[in-house]
Amino acid sequence: MRKISADYIFPIHAKPIKNGVLTVGDDGKIVALSTRSETDNDIELYSGIICPGFVNAHCHLELSHLKNLIPEHTGITGFIRELSKLRNIADTQEQIQCAKFYDNQMYLQGIVAVGDISNSNLTFEIKKQSRIFYHTFAEAFSCNEAETKDILKKNQDIVDCGRKLGISISPTLHASYSMCDGLFSEMKLRSERSGILSYHNQETQDENEYFKNNSGRFSEFYDEFKIPDYPAPFGKTSIHRLLDSIDKNTKIMLVHNTFTSEDDFDFAVSANANITWTLCPKSNLYIENHLPPIEMFRRKNARIATGTDSLSSNANLSIIEELLAISNSFGNIELHELLTWATLNGAEALGIEVKYGTFELGKAPGIVLIDNVDTGKMMLTEKSTSQILHN
Ligand SMILES: [Zn+2]
Repeated sequence: MRKISADYIFPIHAKPIKNGVLTVGDDGKIVALSTRSETDNDIELYSGIICPGFVNAHCHLELSHLKNLIPEHTGITGFIRELSKLRNIADTQEQIQCAKFYDNQMYLQGIVAVGDISNSNLTFEIKKQSRIFYHTFAEAFSCNEAETKDILKKNQDIVDCGRKLGISISPTLHASYSMCDGLFSEMKLRSERSGILSYHNQETQDENEYFKNNSGRFSEFYDEFKIPDYPAPFGKTSIHRLLDSIDKNTKIMLVHNTFTSEDDFDFAVSANANITWTLCPKSNLYIENHLPPIEMFRRKNARIATGTDSLSSNANLSIIEELLAISNSFGNIELHELLTWATLNGAEALGIEVKYGTFELGKAPGIVLIDNVDTGKMMLTEKSTSQILHN
């Protein structure tokens, strides 16, 4: 049993507690939440604030060997060009070593659960042994109908491999622009059957331009790479490709949403009530140098979660850095709200809120210390860092 205290405790399900005390069992379960009194003893006292473990709602652990290799601000088509050249630049052992190192880094910085995209089984042994809980989205993409059968088989093999190892895994689609019709409809069906999916949505204005007006950089991209079966434009923004016909009950994580308009948002919530809008601001700044319409999402009471994306478009896999990137541009957002995105909302998106996301008694959500917080203004500072205290 440990009693842990700091300047403030953010339980997330309740208001911040000044001089709060958190009592946690050896099994990580929250036993009590109280306020410090002078008669208390055996308390570990920290400077800063304490919150539940972070949920990194969007990551690609298997791309960890690509740190610092792709230049910034290429736009998404430039980024895909570079990524396809570099993806296998390192041998398998090196890729595994990098993934293992950053799995540990994430944990030390307070991440206790991850929604992770995988196009292979490279990271599965790491996930099995990790102190982090992973839900793996086994992702497929291809714009070549001749390949569809093989890609579906490969995807099923990856899902089966994960299940055999006992990790949490389900199939998912990549994005509107990267899948031919045959693969898209079968992967949509498989995702609906599993009840949850993750989707790279409106990461660039070019995908809206392409599907709506048959213009923008995707037309050139498809031609340049002689893509045989690229999807046809349909006169609406790209979000419609998935949501025009989605099963209403499927839990959907829409990732990026950098160029989602209010009309897109209204349409999306009318098509499906169970959407989490996952934001990866540092990756957006890296690739497109643009941030999602966060004020619109807040005004609409969207369920927002946060992710790091991969090290191919980020310098670190740190949730606190993502929150800082948001508060640097949107300074009016209260810390309690930002931390809710980084904890409870990500946990709900992955369906793991029974254990993670808040300091409700009986949960074992992990305990994170954030230091160098401006507790007067209750804001993160450039010096804020996070570390795991207990899991
Ligand atoms: Zn991604």
